[in-house]
Amino acid sequence: MKKCHKCKSNEASIHDAEIGDFCLDCHNEYMAELLGVSITNNFSKIVSFNDAERIVHQFEISNMIMPGFSVWKAEEIDGGYQFEILLKPEENQVWAIEQLHQKILTGLGYKTLSRRLDSNFIDNAIHLKNEQYSLKSVGTCRIQYSKRENICLIVDGKRISLDDFGRALTAFEGFNLDFQIRDLSDEVLGKDTVLHRVSINSNVIMERFERTLGWFLEHNFLSYKHKSACEEALFERIDELELLCKYGSRDDAEDVGRKMKRRLAAIDNDTDDFPNYLVEMIDQVIGKKS
Ligand SMILES: [Zn+2]
Repeated sequence: MKKCHKCKSNEASIHDAEIGDFCLDCHNEYMAELLGVSITNNFSKIVSFNDAERIVHQFEISNMIMPGFSVWKAEEIDGGYQFEILLKPEENQVWAIEQLHQKILTGLGYKTLSRRLDSNFIDNAIHLKNEQYSLKSVGTCRIQYSKRENICLIVDGKRISLDDFGRALTAFEGFNLDFQIRDLSDEVLGKDTVLHRVSINSNVIMERFERTLGWFLEHNFLSYKHKSACEEALFERIDELELLCKYGSRDDAEDVGRKMKRRLAAIDNDTDDFPNYLVEMIDQVIGKKS
């Protein structure tokens, strides 16, 4: 066990060949100084939330600052739930903590496993602690792998082997299973959520962008009265641009982003600042400095 280089008392949990071994607190102090940002220390390190069945789950909250991003983590104590929020170190960290709490609530509100009340043994159910579960037709899980434990899935905070998961899938024999692997910091599935198929073809995104604009423009003029509604409607199109960026080609996404910005700039309007906010969002999505 290595001690932290800086405080010389805590166990070092972050190992960097160049800057040395640090505990999380000292690492953050070092990074904050390096990046010229302040550290957010005033938050509850342990938080508890109820899930959909009113069972309490306790989480440990931690923050790690790195060049370019700050990650807020919630890891369940005595359970497998994990949630994450990613933002830039110079952005509002208190907001990130609120988002993290919200994400925990949303995630806990959704169950992928449904408990079977049948008293007879169901051979393709998932059996955990004298309970039987089947899979819902929409679900989410975290992929976990370690050499010691091999691969397993964390479903509703519970560890499920691939064998058990596979056997539970036989309840849907003959159906299709679509999948989309997403970063832990992406949005989570919540109550009353399904996955929706959405095209990320560049032309389709631009067509939908133009159609959305059409609801608010009169002869290419945007009145200040419709500005916020128009912006809000376009957020969805920018979300599609983000999906293109993540799952499609980055070059295509940059191209679509440029087209969107050019189109927005060509709109006559009587507002003070249109389309500055939208342009900023587009730049953020395609990873350009505004
Ligand atoms: Zn330390």
